[in-house]
Amino acid sequence: MNGRMILLALLALTLCLPVLAGAENAAESALYVKKVENLPEDFIFGMDVSSVLAEEASGVKYYGFDGKETDLFRILADNGINYIRVRIWNNPYDEAGNGFGGGNCDIRTAMEIGKRATACGMKLLADFHYSDFWADPGKQMVPRAWAGIDIDEKETALYEYTRDCMQQLKNAGVDVGMVQVGNETNGRMCGESDWQNIARLMDAGSRAVREVFPETMVAVHFANPENPDSYRFYAERLAQFEKDGLIQYDVFASSYYPFWHGTLDNLAEILTEISETYGKKVMVMETSYAYTGEDTDFSGNTISEGSEVSGYPFSSQGQADSVRDITDAVVNRTPAGIGVCYWEGAWITVGGNSREENQAMWEKYGSGWASSYAAAYDPDDAGQWYGGSAVDNQAFFDADGKALESLKVFRFMRTGNGKAPEPVQDASKESAAVEENADTTYNYVLDYSFEDGGNCWKVTDLKKASELYVEDKPADSLTGRKHLHFWSAAQDSVEFTAEQIITDLPEGKFSFRISIMGGDCGETDIYAYVKIDGKETARSEQIPITGWKNWKTGVIPEFDHPAGTKVTVGIYVKCQGTGNGAWGKIDDALLNSVQ
Ligand code: CA
Repeated sequence: MNGRMILLALLALTLCLPVLAGAENAAESALYVKKVENLPEDFIFGMDVSSVLAEEASGVKYYGFDGKETDLFRILADNGINYIRVRIWNNPYDEAGNGFGGGNCDIRTAMEIGKRATACGMKLLADFHYSDFWADPGKQMVPRAWAGIDIDEKETALYEYTRDCMQQLKNAGVDVGMVQVGNETNGRMCGESDWQNIARLMDAGSRAVREVFPETMVAVHFANPENPDSYRFYAERLAQFEKDGLIQYDVFASSYYPFWHGTLDNLAEILTEISETYGKKVMVMETSYAYTGEDTDFSGNTISEGSEVSGYPFSSQGQADSVRDITDAVVNRTPAGIGVCYWEGAWITVGGNSREENQAMWEKYGSGWASSYAAAYDPDDAGQWYGGSAVDNQAFFDADGKALESLKVFRFMRTGNGKAPEPVQDASKESAAVEENADTTYNYVLDYSFEDGGNCWKVTDLKKASELYVEDKPADSLTGRKHLHFWSAAQDSVEFTAEQIITDLPEGKFSFRISIMGGDCGETDIYAYVKIDGKETARSEQIPITGWKNWKTGVIPEFDHPAGTKVTVGIYVKCQGTGNGAWGKIDDALLNSVQ
């Protein structure tokens, strides 16, 4: 331990003295929280704050409910958080030492965050991605240092790396409560896609953790619980390997973003099934919800206005309700449920007045989701789309760093607080009902999901977009691997139609729908349409663009196809564009008979 580290450790301890004056009487909060019954004393309330050091370096400050600037870890501990989660990348820097962003999280970051968590009485949840940058269902890239080595060497390298990291955390006095061997490893991990190899790598990580911290829980982590069969498959595969002495893990963990990942009923059912079949603990490893639809850092968010989950408005109360109901499902409908961890609840704007000002800090301190330097490792995604926080509207702190009332939900779930408000009618329920009634009979659109390359589609580019083509990228597709992609850097340079003449369409009544998602689009004019003999006869409502994976569907519920006429279906897209330029994805055109 060198002098600077000692100084930092002392500083952390100093900052973490309990703020006695800051404790607020529960009765003074307007937040309504229905008590979660049967909530165990040691239930894990986790908060991922992986970006915090980069945020602080960028000048971000956090304020408690007394309005005083306070160490983030102290604020979280005072509000019922007992685990701090941090992602760990092997080497998120280019050869010149420039950070890739996303907090530039390596083992040094994890040690610093771990020490500060420990000083505040919270445990660390270490999340190994086993990559040099983001690992998720869309990508699981091997670290550069391990590229090209065979699986035997990789197993050894991963074991030694994990053991060394664990030893460093131990030497630093960090209280490590749980370690994840892989992040959202949906059938891929560390550049491997063969389950035998994945199992060997997970086992290597697990052995290394147990060697240094025998009492620490080992977790595996997956995403997309809305596909329960995939969870059954993962758990079964792991159980087979466990019989052979591989992968002794404790916790089967799931991401659960309510706007992407299906219903709470489904989540509770599949996690219960897995815990009962395989004797594992289960938990929600990542979740979040928005307190506002607004973006505050000039970099688009994963969700924005229009993507509210029914019954949960974008407000501090809606955010608290979401966390409360997920917790209730894990506690009371998932017998082996041990915790809920919120993702990046303090990743707020770095505070500049323009994208350029913020960009300078994201580049310098790694406080955005990716910097331009990430191109050295991930040129096609991060290296192209680098920017700021995509979840500043899902934090528990406002744009000035002041704690939101919703942060009190973790304490209030134990006791309950306030009175239930009047129920709010939510229009999105109705559109959901329309979706359920969608006719899923024969689809007359050829290459409806662009899987065959889009040759049946006529795409007319009216403004010369920088990019407009069929793209092969499963993570950005509604179904399958491919979709129609667009992006254009300049303002007002996106205007196109994508349409298809439907031959062989019988006489009768039909419905048409097509889906789109995207971001940084600014003002838009987007709709689905139907033409009969070249003349538009039906048009959907405006289709909003509200963020990555927020698929929105333009619907023409019914139109008439008279005998002997020619039908064209399509989508019109026009975007003003903001930020790095309007981008979007179009997928799944459905033309069905209406009875
Ligand atoms: Ca943002």
